[in-house]
Amino acid sequence: MREKLLELCSRYAIRLAEHVRLSERTTFRIGGDADFWADVNNVSGLSALIRFCREEQYPYFLMGRGSNILASDDGFRGLIIHLDGDFSQIELMLDADSMKIGAGVTLIKAANTAKEFSLTGMEGLSGIPGTVGGALFMNAGAYGYEMSQIVTSCEYMDESGWVHTLKADDIELSYRHSFFTEHPGIVLSVTVLLTPGNQNEINARMQEFLNKRNEKQPLNLPSAGSTFKRPEGSYASMLIDQCGLKGLTVGGAQVSEKHAGFVVNTGHATCADVLELCAQVRKKVKAQTGYELELEPVLLGTEGM
Ligand SMILES: Cc1cc2nc3c(=O)[nH]c(=O)nc-3n(C[C@H](O)[C@H](O)[C@H](O)COP(=O)(O)OP(=O)(O)OC[C@H]3O[C@@H](n4cnc5c(N)ncnc54)[C@H](O)[C@@H]3O)c2cc1C
Repeated sequence: MREKLLELCSRYAIRLAEHVRLSERTTFRIGGDADFWADVNNVSGLSALIRFCREEQYPYFLMGRGSNILASDDGFRGLIIHLDGDFSQIELMLDADSMKIGAGVTLIKAANTAKEFSLTGMEGLSGIPGTVGGALFMNAGAYGYEMSQIVTSCEYMDESGWVHTLKADDIELSYRHSFFTEHPGIVLSVTVLLTPGNQNEINARMQEFLNKRNEKQPLNLPSAGSTFKRPEGSYASMLIDQCGLKGLTVGGAQVSEKHAGFVVNTGHATCADVLELCAQVRKKVKAQTGYELELEPVLLGTEGM
């Protein structure tokens, strides 16, 4: 299997690394080794790789910036696919106030490009430290902005390596949900419709949201952002705070003192520490408030809670 994979990667100019520490590739700074990591630059290489994994029945996982991932201490017995090259490009359609954004482009780069061309609609998304593909997957959002408000279509690759286009309605975007949370598929690009605006005002809004993040979030410590989804009718951080759980610690994992909605890695947290801490938080919140909290980050290589 390994030899065939090496040969395929060399044929398609895919950069392949072995035994890659997931703690070095995720914002939580947690996770053991993945067997293989492939940086894929174009559709033909991706299609060949997906077909190969299917034929060999070899597990693969698509990783963006790893900013919403909790990776197992045992790592991942399979191939991590990371999009680069053609997937890091932005195509502007200025006559239509539209941008076709490669799935590997970061939200900050996409938002900055929109700003450069005086297009408004991405300001609130600009501080989210992920890629456009990862943002579509979870319908990422903040400060009243959400991917669902601007997406008109996307291109994705299915498990057999074929490319399809989905219109906005068929992407089924809702709170932290999309077509891709229910079906396998790799987002290749996302087309967004923006609105002409004033560049200074766009810039001011982006700055305001970044300042809010710096002020409210524990950005000095590794995390995966909000640890729990917003339960219907309340806010996870408010409930956790009400239950007096700020500062609760298991090993190196801690409910942030600054923002109760974040579990942070204070130094040497393991995935097991985070899962145990989250289990304690969920139990106490359920007992004291009746709300069920659901983990937001995607678990990689672990059975989870
Ligand atoms: C400090 C901090 C603040 C954050 N603030 C916010 C916030 O305000 N709002 C918010 O919504 N999120 C927030 N997040 C979480 C995270 O940044 C977002 O969910 C982001 O969209 C994840 O993108 P990513 O590229 O890092 O995806 P990853 O974490 O790499 O992957 C997440 C999931 O998306 C899938 N995925 C990634 N790329 C693709 C693709 N091309 N095709 C198909 N599936 C794909 C992965 O397989 C995985 O299941 C925050 C995280 C941190 C660390």
